Order: sequence, then structure tokens, then C-alpha cells
Amino acid sequence: MVVGAGIAGIQASLDLAERGIKVELVEKNACIGGRMAQLDKTFPTNDCSICILAPKLAECSRHPNITLHVLSEVQSVEGSAGNFTVKVLKHARYVKEDECINCGICVEKCPMRVEDDFDMQLRKRRAIYIDYVQGVPAIMSIDKEKCLWFTKSACRICEKVCEREAIDFEQEDKEIELNIASIIVATGYDVFDPTAISYLGYGRLPNVVTSLEFERMISASGPLGGHLTRPFDQKEPKNLAFINCVGSRDIKNNPYCSSCCCMYTTKEAMIAYEHNSNIRTSIFYIDLRAGGKGFRDYIQRGCDDYAITYIKGKVAKILQDEQRNPIVFYEDTDTFEVKQPKFDLVVLATSMVPKKDAVRMSEILGINVDDCNFFKSMTYHPQKSSKEGIFLCGTCRAPMDIPNSVVDASGAAAKAAEIVMRV
Ligand SMILES: Cc1cc2nc3c(=O)[nH]c(=O)nc-3n(C[C@H](O)[C@H](O)[C@H](O)COP(=O)(O)OP(=O)(O)OC[C@H]3O[C@@H](n4cnc5c(N)ncnc54)[C@H](O)[C@@H]3O)c2cc1C
Ligand code: SF4
Ligand code: SF4
Repeated sequence: MVVGAGIAGIQASLDLAERGIKVELVEKNACIGGRMAQLDKTFPTNDCSICILAPKLAECSRHPNITLHVLSEVQSVEGSAGNFTVKVLKHARYVKEDECINCGICVEKCPMRVEDDFDMQLRKRRAIYIDYVQGVPAIMSIDKEKCLWFTKSACRICEKVCEREAIDFEQEDKEIELNIASIIVATGYDVFDPTAISYLGYGRLPNVVTSLEFERMISASGPLGGHLTRPFDQKEPKNLAFINCVGSRDIKNNPYCSSCCCMYTTKEAMIAYEHNSNIRTSIFYIDLRAGGKGFRDYIQRGCDDYAITYIKGKVAKILQDEQRNPIVFYEDTDTFEVKQPKFDLVVLATSMVPKKDAVRMSEILGINVDDCNFFKSMTYHPQKSSKEGIFLCGTCRAPMDIPNSVVDASGAAAKAAEIVMRV
């Protein structure tokens, strides 16, 4: 069983399935893909994220050795390596999987508008929806918490307009029991909420956004249709600031390094420049962590070809002028000068944090978490959890980028396969 179908869970599932091993892939959301589906492009190649991901999503959903359980969560795990009994709760979709053809008529007619988490709440979706356009499986689901039928016994418009008669309000949640030889946990990460650092102004200053919001703002399939404007007045920003390590390497919040932000802020600045070559960017950093192969050259390209200036300086506060332009107060730690430049838009590179339910999951799985609540792995066997037969991969055990999540997943799959082969 693989729990979590982001890039790490998908890679682990495909590796196992290709070895002829049957995989039960359990994903909480209605679509697989995880955070990578939210990204516009990915460093270090600046390839389109969904173009790399989409073939893997399709392979995963079609592979004869993979059974996909979406809208599903692990309820309990009993037994030991080679012989686990796992109960999985499958939430009702209220749409028949074999009837829906993803035509979208129901979405068009649904009157209920809801904050869209996939788009970081920068636009609304409907109560009947698919997570994202290229989502797999390509089937609608109804958000029971928001749907007018479930909340007010009204509407049922989707049922009337669906020519396939795919809507089924009678569906119920189901519990299934599976016999499993080995478990791989790949439940990923959440992002830090920067409202906790009040001097940065997030939530108060309209032109201060987070890096994941910015990913959606620059994405062609995002809420701005790929035309970058700032939230307050829809003006095209020309002067951007990125602040690295927001919530990371900070003993008041998260002491660890989130490992990707120095690189992804450079990537986001590069993409902004590709949108508009008049854009000038300043990236504020504590120190630049560009340890991967070719990463230093990537940063250099940012300076040489994309008008990025890297400023070694600690930001003390962000205020705004009457036009809502953010003013960044910082000390330049090279010159010891205190400066206060103005920008059109500020992007906060917020840390990667453990999932909100990581501790509850660790109790269900019977595994340990570390001091920061990431799942604890063995120093010299990084994919091993504290329990035999349960392995970890990707960002559920530590912050890491996509290439490292993929390597981690293949390692976990190899370890899990050893157990399956012994049974
Ligand atoms: C702003 C930003 C930009 C980034 N840009 C880049 C980049 O350009 N290049 C790069 O290499 N990396 C980048 N990264 C890092 C990248 O997002 C991660 O490395 C990658 O997404 C990790 O994949 P994952 O599978 O470990 O986790 P996730 O993508 O978080 O996937 C985890 C999956 O598990 C599911 N899940 C969670 N809990 C449960 C549960 N209890 N039961 C069942 N399912 C569950 C989730 O719904 C999700 O589908 C960026 C990160 C951020 C924040
Ligand atoms: S539920 Fe019906 S109307 Fe909606 S996308 Fe599916 S087939 Fe089309
Ligand atoms: S019944 Fe619910 S999902 Fe269907 S159209 Fe009405 S509000 Fe939307």
C-alpha cells in the first residue's frame, strides 16, 4: 500500500507495479498529483510541471497492478511486516465514476461558489468540481460540506442537467479492509502560514503574497490566466521582492531549512521575467543554499539573464505606502546599512511544514515523528520508519525537492519490494 499520491507516492507505486507487485494507492483528495500539480514550472530545468506530471498520472491510473483509492483515508493498521490489515475509509463522491465523462455542464450550472484550495483561494470553484483541469481521475465530485442539497435540501440542478445521469446523492462512505505486506507513506507537506509573523504583513497588506500563491498567479491555468497582476489594483508589477526563509531557519517557528526555497524563488523570478522582461527582482536571503548539481549555475543565470539581484539581508518589517506598494525595511548584512526600498509586489517563501494530521497519522500507523513532527526516519536507512514494514518517502519525512522525492520513492519501493518478495 502506498499512502499519498503526490509525485513521491506515484513514483513508488509505478516502480512497484513495474516489478509485478500489486499496489493499493490511497489518496485523500479526489485527484492524484499532490503539490507538483499546483506548480507552474519546476527548477532546475524550468519544464512545465504538469507536462512532466501528466504522463505519470495517466500511467498510474491505467496500470493493471495499481488500484487507485481516491477520496480515501487510512483508518487503522494492525499486524506486522508481511501481514498488515488496513482499514480504509472511502468517502462518497456523489457522482458515478463509470458514468461521468467530465463534460463540465454540471459545474457550469451549479450556483454554489466555494473557495478553491487548489488555487490557494485566489478564485472560487463550484460545489461540484474537479481539483484541476488535467486532474486524474477525470471525474467530478460533490463537496458535501458546501452543496445546497446537503446543507439546505435545495437545488439538485446538477442532477437535472447531467445527461449521463451520473449524479447519485444516495452514495455513502464505505470502509474496506485490505491485507497488505508493506506500507509506504508519502503524505507530503503543508505550507507555513505567515500570518504568524505579523511584521511581514501577510493578510494585512494586499500586495504581500506567498510563494505557492505566486505559483498559481503565474500559471496559465491559474486564476489570472497567466497574466501576472498584483492583488490590490490588478496593476502589472515591475518591481518584485522575494523574501527567503519565511518560517524556516527560525527558532520561533521552524528551525530547519526548507531546502527548496532558494531555488524556487529564483525559478519564480525567472518565470516572472519571461512574462515581462521589464520586471526587476530582488531576492532577500540569509545565505543561498544551492547545493544540487548545476544549482549554482542556475542562480548565476538568474543574475545574468533574468535581472535578479540577490541581497544578503534580514528583513525587519514590511509596511506599505498610500498606493499599497510594500516597503521592505532590512539591514544589508554586507554593508550594515538599514534600507527601505519600495516594491510593487512581495512574495514570501514560506517553509514546508508537516501535514496538520501528521501526529494522528503516526498514531494510526504506529510510527514515530521527529522533533518537528515530520515522520521519523533512520539516519542511515532514510526510507525506514520506526516500524518494520513501513517505509517513508518524499516530503512527509523531510523537506526536499522533486528530484530528491523521486529518488526517495524509488528507494522506499525497493525496500518494500524486499518484504513483498519474502511473503
Ligand atoms: C512554492 C513552492 C515551489 C516549489 N517549486 C519546486 C520546483 O520548482 N522544483 C522542485 O523540484 N520542487 C519544488 N517544490 C517542492 C515540491 O513541491 C515537493 O518536492 C514535492 O511536491 C513533494 O512531493 P510529495 O509527493 O512528497 O508531497 P505532496 O506533493 O505534498 O503529495 C502528498 C500527497 O499525499 C496526499 N495525502 C496527504 N495526507 C494524506 C493522508 N492522510 N491520506 C492519503 N493521502 C494523503 C496529499 O493529498 C497529496 O496528494 C516547491 C515547493 C513549493 C512550496
Ligand atoms: S457529472 Fe454529468 S454533467 Fe457533470 S461532468 Fe459528469 S457527465 Fe458531465
Ligand atoms: S445540488 Fe449541490 S452540487 Fe448540485 S448544482 Fe446544487 S449546489 Fe451544486
